[in-house]
Amino acid sequence: MTAVTATSGLVEVHNVHKSFHGVEVLKGIDLTVQPGEVVALLGPSGSGKSTLLRTINHLETVDAGSVTVDGEFIGYELRHGKLHELREREILQRRTQVGIVFQNFHLFPHLTALENITEAPLALKRQGRGEARELAFGLLERVGLAEKADAYPRQLSGGQQQRVAIARALALQPKVLLFDEPTSALDPELVGEVLDVIRDLAKLGTTLVIVTHEIGFAREVADRVVFLDQGRIVEQGTPADVLTRPQHPRTREFLAKVL
Ligand code: ADP
Ligand code: MG
Repeated sequence: MTAVTATSGLVEVHNVHKSFHGVEVLKGIDLTVQPGEVVALLGPSGSGKSTLLRTINHLETVDAGSVTVDGEFIGYELRHGKLHELREREILQRRTQVGIVFQNFHLFPHLTALENITEAPLALKRQGRGEARELAFGLLERVGLAEKADAYPRQLSGGQQQRVAIARALALQPKVLLFDEPTSALDPELVGEVLDVIRDLAKLGTTLVIVTHEIGFAREVADRVVFLDQGRIVEQGTPADVLTRPQHPRTREFLAKVL
C-alpha cells in the first residue's frame, strides 16, 4: 500500500494489484467513483470484478496500490506519513461506510427479515432496540416487504430475500453500496423486483457500484460503464459509448455474447 494525497472521489482506487497464489488477478486498477454516481462494472467471468468490489471494503487486502472511501483507508490508518494496519474492531467500524449485496443474499437463516436488518446496528450499538426496529421497518417498507418483517429467509422467495439483503445493507447508512451480480441467482421472473429497488436507490442519488450482466439495466441506470478484462479496465465511458459503440475488441466480444 502506498499513501495517497488529494482525494476527490468518494471511492478512490489507485493502481491496485492483487494476486492469489502467484496469479495476478488485478493488474493495476484505477477507478474513481464520485458521490451520487452509479457505476456498472461489466466483464467476463474471472476478470476480477468480485475481487475489485471486495477490495473496496477491505474484504480483500491489496498487494500494491490503495483504496480509500471518503478519504479514509478501511483497513489502515495514516500515522506519521506511514500506513499502519488497523485492528479488526476498527476495520469493522470503518467497513460500515460500504454496504455490499452478494449474489446469494447471505442472510442469517436463524433471524427474521427484521432481525437481519437490526443485527448490525445493534451489534455496533448504533441505535437502541426500539429505534433500530423502527428504522428496519422503514427500510422493509422501502423495499416493499413491510408485511414480511417476521418471516425467516427460508419462507421468502429469492427476490424477497435479496430485497431484505438490500435493506440490511442500507441499515448502516453506507456512503456507497456495492452489488455483486445481485440478480444472477434469481429465477427470471424475480429479477425485476430487485432491479426496481436498485433503480429507486439510483434515483435517490445513492452512490452505487453494480456488477451485473443485465446490460439493459446497466444502460438505463448507470452514469458510467466500466469494462474489466483479465484484471485490467480496458474501456469505460457512458453507457451509450461503451454499450453501443464499444471500442475495444474484448468489450465487443463480451457484449456479443451477453446481448
Ligand atoms: P469475477 O468476479 O470477474 O468472475 P473474481 O474476482 O471472482 O472474478 O476472480 C478473479 C480471479 O481470481 C479468478 O481466476 C478467481 O478464480 C481468482 N480468485 C478470486 N478469489 C480467489 C481466492 N480467494 N483465492 C484464489 N483465487 C481467487
Ligand atoms: Mg464475481
